[in-house]
Amino acid sequence: MHRCDSSFIDTEGLTQALKLMTSRSTEVSDLPANLPSAGLGEIPVLNLLAPQILGNAAQLGAHTSMAHMDPPTPWITWAMAMWNASLNQNLLHEATSPFATQAEKQVLDWLVPFFGMQGGHFCSGSTIANLTGIWAARDVAGVRKVVTSQAAHLSVEKACRLLGLELVKVGLDTQGRLDVDQLPNLENACLVLNAGTTATGAIDLLTLSGAAAWTHVDAAWAGPLRLSPKYSDRLSGIEKADSVAISAHKWLFQPKDSAMIMFRDLSAANQAISFGGGYLAKPNVGVQGSRSAAAIPLLATLLAWGQNGLAQRLEYLMQAADMLAQNIEQTDHLELWNPPQTAVNVFRPRHLSTSEFLAALPAGILSSCVLDGEMWCRSVAANPLVDVDLVTAQIIAASQKRT
Ligand SMILES: *Cc1c(COP(=O)(O)O)cnc(C)c1O
Repeated sequence: MHRCDSSFIDTEGLTQALKLMTSRSTEVSDLPANLPSAGLGEIPVLNLLAPQILGNAAQLGAHTSMAHMDPPTPWITWAMAMWNASLNQNLLHEATSPFATQAEKQVLDWLVPFFGMQGGHFCSGSTIANLTGIWAARDVAGVRKVVTSQAAHLSVEKACRLLGLELVKVGLDTQGRLDVDQLPNLENACLVLNAGTTATGAIDLLTLSGAAAWTHVDAAWAGPLRLSPKYSDRLSGIEKADSVAISAHKWLFQPKDSAMIMFRDLSAANQAISFGGGYLAKPNVGVQGSRSAAAIPLLATLLAWGQNGLAQRLEYLMQAADMLAQNIEQTDHLELWNPPQTAVNVFRPRHLSTSEFLAALPAGILSSCVLDGEMWCRSVAANPLVDVDLVTAQIIAASQKRT
């Protein structure tokens, strides 16, 4: 019998892949309309796809890019992602992933103390992490409703729909935080607090943690600030929560799909969200079945940078956002919604329509959001390589454009 295995390892091919990675050609060729019956071979495919995949993409690490909530990733994570892909280990089966399982536990052991949690697991995003936290709230604490602010991420609503829980949305204060004066009775409730809302980066009063039968903090965006001695206090109270969700593919600079759900009482939570199975040596914990070794790129990043290296990058981004805010406040042409809480600036032009203003800027530099039915522009500082003076100058210049 003939084994066709030439495509499983080829260092020359991998070297070519690396070369193409930095070349950024944009001369694209069309893809075949039909599935080719004869394969093109690996190296021709690299050459065919490089201009599309590498050339036809947003450059999130460009110095002109603030990068929305999708940061560029450090190169060590590319190397780890390649090693992971070559092994294809499954966190569902410890026997196939001995080190990957240990790596996941190590990374969580390092991180959970910053959040007052005991442990948890990785999942593909905070959409799943929020679902998992609210699932534990239902089955550990018996909650029947979820109380959260109007600014909560849509994944909270998805989780309620899937779990059959009532959703109560509370209004916002002038800074986009859950308005404490409007809180309903929290009996039998899971309170979902935001540590950095998606639209405005607002942090709810996290010292409310513990006020309900279960408190889940959606720290998808701003959770990593806990590792910055300078900004950790902004998330004070999070340590009293029952569960915390964080997207590592946001402010921990990881390739997608990487997120964590953490629990204060790990064994109670795991008992509620685990399933045994005849073919499994260990119960399957959480929503996903097969899972990638997403902790390994994060392990490498944390080892390479240390807590200080991560904190420095986050602090640079917080300061970049503050600087942009100051410049916005100093010009008559722009209106700042509020000072940024977690490196998200929300503002709009005073003398132009939002669409005229956006058209005067390089594509993709800003996103938009709707607050109280009105359109605002949004700038999220997520790219540590950004030249904030340059971006600020572009924004100010565009706002001064005459109609
Ligand atoms: C991004 C985000 C989510 C969802 O996380 P994914 O990783 O995209 O699934 C949830 N909550 C908040 C506040 C977010 O910003």
